[in-house]
Amino acid sequence: MFIESFKVESPNVKYTENEIQSVYDYETTEVVHENVNGAYQWIVKPKVVKYDFKTDTRVPKLGVMLVGWGGNNGSTLTAGVIANKEGISWATKDKVQQANYFGSLTQASSIRVGSFNGEEIYAPFKSLVPMVNPDDVVFGGWDISDMNLADAMGRAKVLDIDLQKQLRPYMENIVPLPGIYDPDFIAANQGSRANNVINGTKKEQVDQIIKDMREFKEKNKVDKVVVLWTANTERYSNVVVGLNDTMENLMNSVDRDESEISPSTLYAIACVLEGIPFINGSPQNTFVPGLIDLAIKNNVLIGGDDFKSGQTKMKSVLVDFLVGAGIKPTSIVSYNHLGNNDGMNLSAPQTFRSKEISKSNVVDDMVASNGILFEPGEHPDHVVVIKYVPYVADSKRAMDEYTSEIFMGGKNTIVMHNTCEDSLLAAPIILDLVLLAELSTRIQFKSEKEGKFHSFHPVATILSYLTKAPLVPPGTPVVNALSKQRAMLENILRACVGLAPENNMILEYK
Ligand code: NAD
Repeated sequence: MFIESFKVESPNVKYTENEIQSVYDYETTEVVHENVNGAYQWIVKPKVVKYDFKTDTRVPKLGVMLVGWGGNNGSTLTAGVIANKEGISWATKDKVQQANYFGSLTQASSIRVGSFNGEEIYAPFKSLVPMVNPDDVVFGGWDISDMNLADAMGRAKVLDIDLQKQLRPYMENIVPLPGIYDPDFIAANQGSRANNVINGTKKEQVDQIIKDMREFKEKNKVDKVVVLWTANTERYSNVVVGLNDTMENLMNSVDRDESEISPSTLYAIACVLEGIPFINGSPQNTFVPGLIDLAIKNNVLIGGDDFKSGQTKMKSVLVDFLVGAGIKPTSIVSYNHLGNNDGMNLSAPQTFRSKEISKSNVVDDMVASNGILFEPGEHPDHVVVIKYVPYVADSKRAMDEYTSEIFMGGKNTIVMHNTCEDSLLAAPIILDLVLLAELSTRIQFKSEKEGKFHSFHPVATILSYLTKAPLVPPGTPVVNALSKQRAMLENILRACVGLAPENNMILEYK
């Protein structure tokens, strides 16, 4: 059975006018390697730590500024939200289609809340804690191309034409703000697009982005802004001691107009200085050590990297299944071809390299979790190929071959073929990223050992379900397995309303 909303009744939870307060027993384990009677042993000690959570239930009016607003993702997301807000439907050759938010974890997935008369009860994911309604988000942003969003939607060739016709009046007067353009960081084939750029030194460019964000906030009367990079994939920037390794060095490098500071890092600096969360949806190393340092010192949320939309999402499910089933994946080969502007930009070796790096580590944690299958340091062969084929446009093809060793030396090969509009996968993920980033800034917590409430670490691991190469604070394990990432997010939100993690034991019926 599906219910729309619920309220938790428990001595551990209090709903006040502006807050949900919960007291939560975090059950975990401590592993130690101890000398017991002269021999070292692994000892596991269960422990319970009390946590207090408080969630501000005042949902703000949210502004979202996209870097690369006129791209396929930016225009598709904006069009999709307008279509939902206006309740637009359109004729396809199959049926009359209604606007929806399919593919969004927050808007279109559910959680189990318990059982009622022997029946499982589910509720929308978004009913756990109050969240911004995507229909109410005000969009803005930058693009190095001055094309209005209606034309950009046409250029993207993603949405049905009948829908595009209905959306045009809402979008034709929207023109992105000029963006920071540096041809050294993206493919040369993007040059002809760059007719809407901020001139000046790097310092002046950062100042302009800050000015843009302040004006956007003021003009649209929004309470909070989140910025997300959905612009072209950049090449990696070199990380050099003295240049971008610390906050001070990074800021000095901006002042000196150092060429190796990328546009994406400049936008991120502007956001951190303004206390505005910044999410990176592309694979490049926007978050150089100096930027992470800056975000931590200013306690401003940063999250990334690279939307986890298609092939990697499958990978982080399939390899989790294989390794979890005691099957040894030995070769993982992924081919992609796509014909959108992203594909064209990725046809340059330097930008492709960023994507290759971001896709490369996605099975590491799963492989490392099973020492029966893999020797220390052993790794499956893992190759990623991406080719640009203009004709297929946004309809990306992903072909994967997984070869595994099974019982008694047998081999098992799984081949997958996936065809889908890339931007229709990415747009709902962008929505989830900005809504969850906003929500996480309203949650505070403290453990029994801490005197004061604090927010999450500025490096937002809570978003890792949505990203290919989750950015984590220094010294923190990276989790790629999709089910674990989803459980982490859901269980933290459950803790905010005093619900135990979903343990799937269903002991009531055993
Ligand atoms: P796109 O090329 O259609 O859009 C990118 C837009 O960014 C373009 O309009 C371009 O003019 C603009 N741009 C480039 N540099 C800019 C700058 N410095 N400032 C402002 N605007 C700038 O690409 P897309 O298909 O929308 O994808 C966007 C990004 O998301 C790409 O980097 C892609 O790799 C990444 N990504 C996409 C998916 C997906 O679509 N499924 C998945 C993972 C990652």
